[in-house]
Amino acid sequence: MASTELNIAAIPTDLFIGGAWRASATGKRIDVIDPATESRLASVADASVEDAIQAVDAADQAAKAWAKTAPRVRSDILRRCYDLMIRDAEKLAKLISLENGKSLTDAKGEITYAAEFFRWYAEEAVRINGEISIAPSGMARTLVQYQPVGISLLITPWNFPAAMATRKIGPALAAGCTCILKPATETPLTAYAIAALLAEAGVPAGVVNVLTTSTAGKVSNAILEDPRVRKLSFTGSTEVGRILLRKAADSVINCSMELGGNAPFVVFDDADMDAAIEGAMIAKMRNGGEACTAANRFYVQRGVAAEFSRRLAERIAALVVDDGIKPGTQCGPLVNKAAVEKVASLVDDAVAKGAKVLTGGNAPGRVGYFFQPTVLTDVSPDADLLGEEIFGPVAPIVVFDTEEQAIELANATEYGLVAYIYTSDLARGLRVSEMVESGMIALNRGLVSDPAAPFGGVKQSGLGREGAHHGLLEFTEAKYISTNW
Ligand code: NAD
Repeated sequence: MASTELNIAAIPTDLFIGGAWRASATGKRIDVIDPATESRLASVADASVEDAIQAVDAADQAAKAWAKTAPRVRSDILRRCYDLMIRDAEKLAKLISLENGKSLTDAKGEITYAAEFFRWYAEEAVRINGEISIAPSGMARTLVQYQPVGISLLITPWNFPAAMATRKIGPALAAGCTCILKPATETPLTAYAIAALLAEAGVPAGVVNVLTTSTAGKVSNAILEDPRVRKLSFTGSTEVGRILLRKAADSVINCSMELGGNAPFVVFDDADMDAAIEGAMIAKMRNGGEACTAANRFYVQRGVAAEFSRRLAERIAALVVDDGIKPGTQCGPLVNKAAVEKVASLVDDAVAKGAKVLTGGNAPGRVGYFFQPTVLTDVSPDADLLGEEIFGPVAPIVVFDTEEQAIELANATEYGLVAYIYTSDLARGLRVSEMVESGMIALNRGLVSDPAAPFGGVKQSGLGREGAHHGLLEFTEAKYISTNW
């Protein structure tokens, strides 16, 4: 792929098992829809349980050799994966924009972020160091070694089809694990395009297998029931995460869960208002609001609430909403019709409970799964959108008075993924950061995602961390050898 032109017909659409592309056992296919035009982009193979077991067979056959492959060799392969993703960044971004709907600018940002997981884990692959110590009794030596956890099932969502895959494949490969990736059916083409790049980069056959299916529950159950599989790494909704955790309990499989969020965005009176507006635009509007890290509830201190609301509404009203692939588009469509219906019903519920619409508020009457970027004020505490993920371009604003109240409001959720805090008082910023129940805090910033930092949530937002050295350890088991030499 030397040019930057995307030829969608050249993207593989069959299952990638044991280094080969093959149709599903049943021959069934799944349509992939462009959310901007509602038209069919392609169709991909629909894997059955039989295909899934073949993928486990392939991962199993490759497992011993990959675990024994020298760390430097694994590192070099991962580095080539990074180079190839950067080489094809334009094409991959267009592909993401077409199947997911996000703007080309957001899609390019995602590719840079996604590729970085390969570069980061190429560097980590040669630094999986163990530990050695003398037992407190002085009677033994303790050696700790980090070994690959084993065959891993990786399940990813549609909102970051490249980054959620590389954030798992990178550390799995660095640690010496083979894997089966099951991407979301809404955005399978990006996963297959990445699989083709991995093969080109020299990832051996069977080390990464990719399968798409319309029967995710059945297929993943069959994989999780196979005793050769030792790890589940899931990114998606809390609801599906709970189902999978219950299933994984049957075989006591090592689980990492990156689940839903309900991020508070807290603006104190003393905040730098330009920075807060800029940060709010990123935290709310990146990916059109379809991010687990999206600011879901804006809590603004009374002294600046009117100014913040007016300025945010002006910026949001000026966004160019159009087909994501068109140059200049700032907000593309949502992923599908159900997403538009959900966002519309949340806005209707808030308005029925007294919210005022400063801008937007509706789905525009046009082809494609669009929703107008929206700002709501006077949102009632019992409005549903304060309690659940909106996953759309809607910013509900609530006024608060004191620091204690801001902390209480921020924590009034079952989720705990990320929280945004704006204040020019560093002591207050750190104090509030410590009190907010969240895996990640963005202090005077609108973005936390960074491959070199541990990404993850507390409460119902998940278990474990991705990125940094923490993400690598999720794909290892600590083995302790006790000896009295
Ligand atoms: P989802 O839970 O519906 O689906 C996620 C994946 O799970 C998809 O591949 C889907 O096909 C699969 N799946 C669905 N039902 C399954 C089942 N019974 N068994 C096995 N697999 C099943 O989520 P989504 O709508 O694709 O993504 C949006 C959600 O993902 C949001 O809740 C968002 O917050 C979350 N998310 C979290 C993070 C994070 O890092 N914490 C990142 C991105 C998205």
